[in-house]
Amino acid sequence: MNSAMHSTDTTPAGITILGSTGSIGISTLDVIARHPQRFRIVALTAHSSVDVLAGQCERFRPQFAVLADSAAAGRLRELLRTRAPEVEVLGGAEALVTVAGLDAVDYVMAAIVGGAGLLPALAAAKHGKRVLLANKEALVMSGDLFMRAVREQGATLLPVDSEHNAILQCLPDDYTAGEEPRGVRRIVLTASGGPFRCLPLGQLDGVTPDQACAHPNWSMGRKISVDSATMMNKGLEVIEAGWLFGLPQERIDVILHPQSVVHSLVEYSDGSMLAQLGCPDMRIPISHVLGWPERIDSGTGSLDLLAVGTLQFEAPDHARYPCLGLAAEAMRAGGTAPAVLNAANEVAVQAFLDGRLAFTAIAQVIADTLGQISARPADSLDAILAEDARARHCAGEFVAARKVKALS
Ligand code: NAD
Ligand code: MG
Repeated sequence: MNSAMHSTDTTPAGITILGSTGSIGISTLDVIARHPQRFRIVALTAHSSVDVLAGQCERFRPQFAVLADSAAAGRLRELLRTRAPEVEVLGGAEALVTVAGLDAVDYVMAAIVGGAGLLPALAAAKHGKRVLLANKEALVMSGDLFMRAVREQGATLLPVDSEHNAILQCLPDDYTAGEEPRGVRRIVLTASGGPFRCLPLGQLDGVTPDQACAHPNWSMGRKISVDSATMMNKGLEVIEAGWLFGLPQERIDVILHPQSVVHSLVEYSDGSMLAQLGCPDMRIPISHVLGWPERIDSGTGSLDLLAVGTLQFEAPDHARYPCLGLAAEAMRAGGTAPAVLNAANEVAVQAFLDGRLAFTAIAQVIADTLGQISARPADSLDAILAEDARARHCAGEFVAARKVKALS
């Protein structure tokens, strides 16, 4: 991979963190704070969390702070007038794109949740930055365009998602994202199975958002926590892996591993399997992509293998996790189908989190939406965004129809 030249003994690398107030954003700042000589924050961004972002600005003194919600940006500007007057506050979604492409920025941590992260992540790729990609939805929606932008602009794409980061760590040092890795038979993504792996199937219908967000091993934002419970997360990750590693669907397997200690595996053509292991702490993949190609301290302790004792592996049960099959179907259909899948999932998950949709209806809304909107070529950003909007509208109607049915 072509590495941007920013190591400890030269100028600190300028960083924009898209989604700095979220779970990944906070872990990223935790790692960065351990290496003040190495990194310099250019911009911090969030949707509307004024207070959290104000606190981060006071501590990290970025050049820019951005809130996608313009009214919230006004409130942040007021707060920072006395607390951190040198920080320039910008508002609106376009400002996210601006701070991803500034000349002073070398690395962009793309950690906005959902399709809202696509345009700024793509802007980072188009400006040839080192893109630290947590926002898997961006790649699911626009994999072909995204990978083309990375190639054409000489960007460096490094996955933060723990499985993809594990795979990258198991590939040769000179591996470049998007290329089919040499001598690899298949890759195996591990999945915890989420909080409902052992719940009797008949009880899935009544689970609450808080139960769904109580992940057994990882602490994450609410959307990805629900995705882990349905295993749509793994479905999205198979699509993500296809783009990142240039592999067809048949060579990407999914296996349940409840301990979340083996983060994923690469099987080589001689039958060797390499795996990356570690504590389930996102600061490990985050520090890997921040320090790459060097290793830097992440603040994470050693994995106590004796305490773990046993590692289990199981086949996923498709009746329990229908979203896995829906994602596979969208990947096979190609074109805009993964964008439709992603949009329907975002709408259904939000409805579930708001108490407007049963857990088991998430998969049904996605299936109905995929059934309604057939795949088109994903050959332009406009085509992708149009299908994304169409799918959100369509899924919204399916959610509303289910609610009416539930009431009657
Ligand atoms: P989160 O909900 O904790 O944080 C999301 C961040 O995005 C917040 O800073 C929020 O303000 C910002 N945001 C939300 N909507 C926005 C909008 N419309 N415009 C601008 N900013 C917006 O989410 P998270 O768990 O940190 O996940 C972030 C991304 O990383 C997701 O794509 C997720 O799939 C991926 N990821 C997360 C983890 C994890 O452990 N949390 C692991 C792997 C991948
Ligand atoms: Mg993951």
